[in-house]
Amino acid sequence: MVSLNSRIGIIGAGTSGVYLAILLIDQGFQVTLFEKSPQPRTDGCGILIVQAGMKALHQGNPEISQKIINSGDPVKLFEFRNLRGGVINSEPITYEENELPGMLVHRKAILEALLDELPPDCIRFNAELVSIAQTEHSAIAHFKDGSHWEGDLLIGADGIVSQVRQFIVPDVELFYLGDIVWRGIVEDHSFCLEGNFFVYVRGRGIYANFFHISGGRTHWGFFIEKDRADFEVGKLQPNVTIPPQELAKLPDDARNLIQSTHLENIVCRFSYDIDPLPKIYDGRVILIGDAAHAKSPTRARGMTSGWEDGLSLSQHLRESANIAEALENFQTERLPIVHEYQRTSRQISQRIGRR
Ligand SMILES: Cc1cc2nc3c(=O)[nH]c(=O)nc-3n(C[C@H](O)[C@H](O)[C@H](O)COP(=O)(O)OP(=O)(O)OC[C@H]3O[C@@H](n4cnc5c(N)ncnc54)[C@H](O)[C@@H]3O)c2cc1C
Repeated sequence: MVSLNSRIGIIGAGTSGVYLAILLIDQGFQVTLFEKSPQPRTDGCGILIVQAGMKALHQGNPEISQKIINSGDPVKLFEFRNLRGGVINSEPITYEENELPGMLVHRKAILEALLDELPPDCIRFNAELVSIAQTEHSAIAHFKDGSHWEGDLLIGADGIVSQVRQFIVPDVELFYLGDIVWRGIVEDHSFCLEGNFFVYVRGRGIYANFFHISGGRTHWGFFIEKDRADFEVGKLQPNVTIPPQELAKLPDDARNLIQSTHLENIVCRFSYDIDPLPKIYDGRVILIGDAAHAKSPTRARGMTSGWEDGLSLSQHLRESANIAEALENFQTERLPIVHEYQRTSRQISQRIGRR
């Protein structure tokens, strides 16, 4: 096993970084988590956690998966509809006794369930990583406020626009998937009921989904195909409201629900992924989660794959003789899996209409 005296730094307190920190602290490592925001980033909308994601959480910490089950809806029905509202296909989902369900949950509830399990003194907020150096014996992280951290292993869980990735594979460009997506959360007691996930399949340049996330709330996502203007290239968020002529392509009930959402509960962004990376570590610095393999949301594998990374890396650190062996074993195991997620998620995006 890698020495428990090893000091491990994790950059990014999103769902991937926090879960890995919990697992490593449970194993006895000295972990510091660095987050650039002044407080936990509990913003965001609804998330579909597929069964593999619930399994990855349950294997590492059953309390977290139970909290998530308590705060969301198990998926009961996937329904695919056309733009007139007609049902194309309806798939009821049933579970064996003791089988972990796929879950529909608010991102805030997920992050809170994770943060509840983390000793608060291991997170440093307002800690924005700006550069990395390493020697044969240590990795050094430099922060915007002039401070630095030095330790045995540095893990980049800093999301799609990763600063840590720049150190391992420089100049990775974000790949535009051809859509703008608006997502929102709205009170709803009649349109999309408990456990329901509706997809309005892509047509006439739009696509939408709706799912209930408990507490009488529905999450919606509305996608339009759109080229970016030159000034928008490289930006994560466009500064536009939903064009009414695009929203008018949805049936009345679906459109009305979106229109009844308070503006402060709507977020908007361009859809990006990244190409599969040739490697995810260099010396004592390694990537997990979106930093390593941001993907199109079509297969809903984003959060799940970050937790699978955490479970795998913590196991390799437990089972390997030293850090170098653990990182090599982690990369050998995970790279083919995450490449397949990235490739197939993008293929589905492109097949159903995104460029
Ligand atoms: C439209 C859309 C829908 C999605 N739907 C789903 C879904 O239904 N199911 C699903 O499983 N996944 C979904 N995803 C994907 C999922 O949200 C991500 O895969 C997941 O949140 C990634 O988690 P992460 O912790 O790796 O990265 P992030 O959540 O991005 O966290 C990175 C953290 O690092 C911090 N950070 C960044 N840079 C620095 C720095 N330099 N220094 C310090 N801190 C830094 C950030 O502030 C942030 O807190 C969706 C994504 C999108 C865009």
